[in-house]
Amino acid sequence: MINLDYTNHRVIDVRVMNEELFELVLERNKLAFIPGDCAAVYTDDGRSRPYSIASGSNENELRFVIRKMNGGEVSPWLMGRRSGDSIRITPPFGWFRPGQEIGEAPFVFIATGTGIAPFLSYRATFDKPPVHCLYGVRRESDAIGFSKLRNWCPIRLAVSREQTSDHHHGRVTDLLNTLSLTPGTHYYCCGLESMINEVGEWLRQNGVPLMNIHREVFFHG
Ligand SMILES: Cc1cc2nc3c(=O)[nH]c(=O)nc-3n(C[C@H](O)[C@H](O)[C@H](O)COP(=O)(O)OP(=O)(O)OC[C@H]3O[C@@H](n4cnc5c(N)ncnc54)[C@H](O)[C@@H]3O)c2cc1C
Repeated sequence: MINLDYTNHRVIDVRVMNEELFELVLERNKLAFIPGDCAAVYTDDGRSRPYSIASGSNENELRFVIRKMNGGEVSPWLMGRRSGDSIRITPPFGWFRPGQEIGEAPFVFIATGTGIAPFLSYRATFDKPPVHCLYGVRRESDAIGFSKLRNWCPIRLAVSREQTSDHHHGRVTDLLNTLSLTPGTHYYCCGLESMINEVGEWLRQNGVPLMNIHREVFFHG
């Protein structure tokens, strides 16, 4: 069935960060979205996966940060695109609204891997920073946008698969004890389901109401 809502977007660039991670940059063509929104991105033969928009809603380009899954149907194909190719996407959609719809309440961002994407979109769009950001990656080179985030808000990076001189060696959940847990704070968690469940459980055990915990699962398991 043909969905007339699809739009085609020209590829501006595929910026490879390392062998597993890349940024897909498309012409925006005035597509409207809110930070936190995803779009389903299509291959030429009609397979699709949702990806969270990482650019700001006031920018002219549309960016996605994507981990290439070996053997995956869509992410390796996207990594192979070149400038000038055309890519079909659905209208943006979503319910995850980091830092939004909570009035003046303070908020915290917690991400693993490409789960940083909606927070990068938020940063590029709004001025008010989170009171804290925890960011977990496998390798230091996976930490997309880290220098920009570091200049904007208090942030801790956890690197699980290599030792670095500046960052925690281990999982992002090891850093939960560094949060100050001020009453009324909202917590936005995005990325791996197991991390999100663990963070949610820890927050609940420490008295954070369920309605202050917001989740966006990218990867199950
Ligand atoms: C709301 C939402 C937003 C998302 N946003 C992003 C985003 O911004 N960036 C991004 O990179 N991804 C994002 N994803 C994940 C993305 O949609 C795809 O699932 C991912 O790119 C894999 O698709 P694929 O077709 O390449 O692999 P598939 O063909 O779907 O899977 C290939 C193989 O990899 C396995 N696999 C899938 N995920 C993992 C994992 N984490 N660890 C180990 N094995 C795995 C599968 O079980 C399968 O065996 C998002 C997902 C959701 C639900």
